[in-house]
Amino acid sequence: MTEAMHQILVIEDEPAIRNILKVLLEAERYRVIEADSAVRAEIETRTHKPDLLLLDLGLPDGDGLAIIRRVRAWSPVPIVVLSARTMEEQKIAALDGGADDYVTKPFSAPELLARVRSALRRNVRAPEQSSLLKLGDIQLDLARREARGPSGEVRLTPLEYRLLECLARHLGAVVTQNQLVREVWGPERLGDSRGLRVCVMGLRAKIEPDPHKPRYLVTEAGLGYRLRADEP
Ligand code: CA
Repeated sequence: MTEAMHQILVIEDEPAIRNILKVLLEAERYRVIEADSAVRAEIETRTHKPDLLLLDLGLPDGDGLAIIRRVRAWSPVPIVVLSARTMEEQKIAALDGGADDYVTKPFSAPELLARVRSALRRNVRAPEQSSLLKLGDIQLDLARREARGPSGEVRLTPLEYRLLECLARHLGAVVTQNQLVREVWGPERLGDSRGLRVCVMGLRAKIEPDPHKPRYLVTEAGLGYRLRADEP
């Protein structure tokens, strides 16, 4: 399947930005559908079943968070959120609500396109194919719960393993602190991110070439963490 076949729904009420997005995406041979309101967004999503939603959080007739919740009730379609820098809390709520990733406005074209590609890739990959990851010298086999480095097996604690697995399921995308705490420690520990920070430090010491300058387990300030892997 080529990217030319992917259809993207751009949900943005400002015509100038919508147009920039359309030109950018069409230049990469995506097919673009447009919606300028929350109501149109839902109609177009149900009618065209796009491969990805690019969603502005500030819409005139309703907020993007409501769209994410309603779409997530029936579809796993990747959702990349566009949000202004002043809307940090909304961005976190969007990710916690089921958005896959975000791009901050004003956005850079290469960054936006990279996020789109990565969200589309995650959607295509079947869960059983995604169990092998390469993080520099570290080979990670999620199915067999094994990590190997140049000097043999890298021993991970059960928590470190679960954290890595959770990040790997969202490979390339930001995962919020709340999401990670909920999935790794359980909902009763929500709001307590100390364990998470300790676990991240432990993991970095084992998988990063330089734990103080992480290349693979990256901090997204104020939001959470992102796992990057080398292309296989
Ligand atoms: Ca807007």
